[in-house]
Amino acid sequence: MTKFARYQAHDGPRLAEVVDGELIDLAAHGDDGTPTVARDLADVIGVEWRPTGGRRALEGAHLLAPHARPPRNVLCVGKNYREHVAEFTSSGFDHTALDGDGHEFPFVVFTKPWTSIVGPGAPIEFDPLLTTAIDYEVELAVVIGRGGRNVPVDRALEHVFGYTVINDVTARDLQQRHRQWFIGKSLDSFCPMGPFVVTADALEISDLRLETRVNGELRQSATTADLIYDVPTIISRLSMGMALLPGDVIATGTPAGVGIGFDPPKYMTDGDLVSMTIDGIGELINTVRFLPEPSASVQI
Ligand code: MG
Repeated sequence: MTKFARYQAHDGPRLAEVVDGELIDLAAHGDDGTPTVARDLADVIGVEWRPTGGRRALEGAHLLAPHARPPRNVLCVGKNYREHVAEFTSSGFDHTALDGDGHEFPFVVFTKPWTSIVGPGAPIEFDPLLTTAIDYEVELAVVIGRGGRNVPVDRALEHVFGYTVINDVTARDLQQRHRQWFIGKSLDSFCPMGPFVVTADALEISDLRLETRVNGELRQSATTADLIYDVPTIISRLSMGMALLPGDVIATGTPAGVGIGFDPPKYMTDGDLVSMTIDGIGELINTVRFLPEPSASVQI
């Protein structure tokens, strides 16, 4: 099995393999209704999976985020492409640029809560009274299969279950105002993911092209060959003293071409369509819109 999706069936979300334009339902431990997609995906490492017999066309399916409930926050690497570091530093929005730690390229790590994850086609929603600087960041995301602590670089890829696309949506004004990046990166719907998780054995990741288009205009185009810290290095360094868990998601950073890199900045706004592609994984498309009731108090 190489490519997984989740989709909304009439009786709830289902996990499926994508084969020749079809979604083939898989027997999963979560079929009792338990929302265990994180475990479902990680279990693939050691579990014999069998199709249930259910299938439907991929076209027209309501796809969901392929891995919506990782065991904790999405782990994110910042400033991991050289040209992006330059554009971010010169934008004046980067308070970490003067951290004085002596490293030319510090290993910046922050997190996004899984509550910010949404699927393909879902709207990226924001309150224009809260933020007016919504930016996009295409990123290769790693889904960990086998957990581990102090993983050596040369064994790191053995811990990868697969890969997907993440849009690390960012409210630049909040990112700047709070200095710590968490709030500006964590608003509801600020982590579109998908459309698929492609298993590690099916994807050579050393030179994958990532692209972003906003309303059809090409904004980001680079390859993973430009990463400052590559995927094995990221896994090894993140796991130093902190065990990575099955199902963990690691976003590996974004290349140059984000909205803040333009003068004047090209932020996203109501009605925009943002499309992200990574070779071998697929195209993640989301719309941007104002919250229907901005600043309304909502019971969850
Ligand atoms: Mg990012």
